[in-house]
Amino acid sequence: MKSSAHVVVIGGGVVGASVLYHLTELGWTDVVLVERKELTAGSTWHAAGGMHTLNGDPNIAKLQQYTIGLYREIEQRSGQNCSIHMPGGLMLAGDRERMDWLRMAQARGRYLGMDMEIISAAEAKRMFPLLEEQYFIGALFDRAEGHVDPTGVTLAYAGCARQAGAEICQHTWVSDLRQRPDGTWDVITDSGEIHAEHIVNAGGLWAREVGRMIGLELPVLAMEHMYLITQDMAEVAEYNAATGNELPMGLDFDGELYIRQEGGGMLLGTYEQACVPWSPRETPWTFDQQLLAPDLDRLAPSLEIAFKHYPALADVGIKKVINGPFTFAPDGNPLVGPVPGVRNCWVACAVMAGLSQGGGVGLTLARWMVDGDPGEDIWAMDVARFGNWASLAYTNAKVRENYSRRFRITFPNEELPAGRALHTTPVYDRLTAHNAVWGASFGLEHPLWFQRPGEEPREDVTFRRSNAYRAVAEECTMVRERVGLTECSNFAKYRVTGAGSAGWLQRLLTNRLPRPGRINLTAALAPNGHIVGEFSVARVGTDDFFLFGSHVAEAHHSRWFFGHLADGVRFDVLGLSLVGLSLAGPGARDVLQSVTDASLATENYPFMTFRRIDVGMIPAYVGRMTYTGDLGYEIWVAPEYQRALFDLLWQAGKPYGIGLFGFRALMSLRMEKMFGTWAREYRPVYTPVEARMHRSLKLDHDFIGRAAVEAELARGPARTLGYFDIAPDPAEPADVVGDEPIWHGGAVVGWVTSGAYAHYSRRSLAFGYVPSELAVPGAMFEVEIIGQRRPARLLPEPVLDPAGHRMRV
Ligand SMILES: Cc1cc2nc3c(=O)[nH]c(=O)nc-3n(C[C@H](O)[C@H](O)[C@H](O)COP(=O)(O)OP(=O)(O)OC[C@H]3O[C@@H](n4cnc5c(N)ncnc54)[C@H](O)[C@@H]3O)c2cc1C
Repeated sequence: MKSSAHVVVIGGGVVGASVLYHLTELGWTDVVLVERKELTAGSTWHAAGGMHTLNGDPNIAKLQQYTIGLYREIEQRSGQNCSIHMPGGLMLAGDRERMDWLRMAQARGRYLGMDMEIISAAEAKRMFPLLEEQYFIGALFDRAEGHVDPTGVTLAYAGCARQAGAEICQHTWVSDLRQRPDGTWDVITDSGEIHAEHIVNAGGLWAREVGRMIGLELPVLAMEHMYLITQDMAEVAEYNAATGNELPMGLDFDGELYIRQEGGGMLLGTYEQACVPWSPRETPWTFDQQLLAPDLDRLAPSLEIAFKHYPALADVGIKKVINGPFTFAPDGNPLVGPVPGVRNCWVACAVMAGLSQGGGVGLTLARWMVDGDPGEDIWAMDVARFGNWASLAYTNAKVRENYSRRFRITFPNEELPAGRALHTTPVYDRLTAHNAVWGASFGLEHPLWFQRPGEEPREDVTFRRSNAYRAVAEECTMVRERVGLTECSNFAKYRVTGAGSAGWLQRLLTNRLPRPGRINLTAALAPNGHIVGEFSVARVGTDDFFLFGSHVAEAHHSRWFFGHLADGVRFDVLGLSLVGLSLAGPGARDVLQSVTDASLATENYPFMTFRRIDVGMIPAYVGRMTYTGDLGYEIWVAPEYQRALFDLLWQAGKPYGIGLFGFRALMSLRMEKMFGTWAREYRPVYTPVEARMHRSLKLDHDFIGRAAVEAELARGPARTLGYFDIAPDPAEPADVVGDEPIWHGGAVVGWVTSGAYAHYSRRSLAFGYVPSELAVPGAMFEVEIIGQRRPARLLPEPVLDPAGHRMRV
């Protein structure tokens, strides 16, 4: 074993092997993989080997597509048989909602170039004669589905990596990790030590324990999972003889099961409701290529449906039952990327579908390490999407919820109940008393909308317009015509202080810094010109700043800032030590003026002012801005004052007709003002030129990414963020939810990032990226909403108050 290496990858499952392979592909060949037993000894060896392109997140779907496409290449290059079977796959719908979901999945797949087809139940029956047609109304057929031998794939990755110079040390257990002051690592194993610049935790079932070696509690948990293999079946043999093909794979959502041919019989796996975590606190190091005791009682409800949907199964014997553990993160997506706050430490774990996702995970992590950028949109997999609120018990609750909902539809407006309400602000009870319907984002509860008095505060889940529609419309009118109060604590808040902080921030941000007492909008970019974040910067002194950004990106953004920290600069993540309430609407000034001695007249307190003033007796920082695009204020206080502030504003607002509004109204109001939002319009794969953030770009100073911006400005962006007005369809009222394809001239040319019904302007609006040459004001497109192409006009400016008078009055 080498005593030093550029990278040590810990774990030789399909994911670690893929990371190793991709590192060597990108030219990093001084790399070592350390495996405590034999390659595949964790969850990989007993996997069913199924692979699918379909995923709720189109970017992960794209990486799954990449993974599946990679197998022939590594098989050929390594000479290792991967046993690749590509019979295609059927996703079977039993009701209208699932059919809608499949149509939306097919639509999303279009702009990723996926070849998927909606077929009738009769066609599905023809392709998969084992099924009982009466239980299905249609299906989605995906040609790019199949199965592989998990061990073959792992060995093929390893073989290719070895050929390129990588070393693989089996029967070598990493028992400890120690970081040197220069950020490099001593990897302590039972066969000696390796000094490495970088470490990658691909520990699979033991990723949590490997994390704990450096004091990290990764939100990852293993679940037991079972599949069974039947005896050979005459029906299978007949199909094979008649068609010359293997049966396609099947996903049966109602049965919460997957089914495929295995040899001459069938393999059937379930995601059972009565799911069971495995080793919830600590994974034993003694566990070694073992299986768990099968529990057929747990499978009984799914088997009952399986026997109805596939009657031939009821008459065949079971040859084998496999029960093995594999890992999940709270939302079911992998944890990938640089660990926030720890130098040179990377993770690639919680990969619940290693055969579908392992290639994409390895590719993006390797690019991130080698190029400093994952090269693809991996927002949904970034390890930084969880904060330290994702504790062991939270993870346990969410993973169980996720597992048991694996084949359930999660609607775009659906808020899942596990792990709620955990993280709340002081006004939570006040807002609950006003009948708030709550959502959670980055762990924190925030009001979505306010149900009418006497009605149950819950939202119907749907792809269309929900029971929130009328209440949200009223909230929007109240804000635009009177004054609304909402909570705005669900921003990430940072404070930057210390001599030199102005110079430091200026180098990181694209806009000029505001003068003391002022706020402006800005972005941070990666060296390749991609958006790292977008922020409001408020300056309270020469070297004293508040930054406000997206709450879901708090760990992602702070990883960036801490990664660039300079001597003498202090960067604090304020979390809930600063909470806020926001007033918006034409009456906002009157309400606030009635409780403060500071003059709020525009000449004294113009738009984009940020000052420390007293509101009643409460010390507050008050910024004159709102995301609704109205006259408005964001009032920031220490949490112990938030209740008093709420009561004060609520009382003061009564003569002005004040009411409460929530996040749904905010999203509607910002759409008619053409304001983009983080994680939708602004993501790390877009550039500020594509996203039309020109007002935040000032090329009169040096900032990270400036050269890339200048080059892009000179040649023109390939794609541009468009703003679309979608024609109504009274027969089928539905708005975009994100990721819908945008059509032009009979072809899919782009995708929707977000949208909403703009209640006040009475229009269905959307943002989306399209090729720049097509982004001409007035140009007509079509946006596909639940299988229907609706005409959409590209608008040049906001549908409401394009000159921005409302904000400045
Ligand atoms: C019953 C079942 C069926 C499944 N079916 C499918 C399927 O059809 N399709 C699909 O895509 N996925 C399937 N999976 C999931 C799949 O098995 C996992 O996604 C995949 O195995 C994850 O691989 P990994 O490399 O992350 O983890 P692992 O396979 O667990 O690998 C981690 C490796 O790290 C090593 N390791 C850990 N700590 C250390 C240390 N300190 N020192 C040295 N080595 C260490 C371990 O020994 C282990 O070999 C299934 C899982 C189960 C249980």
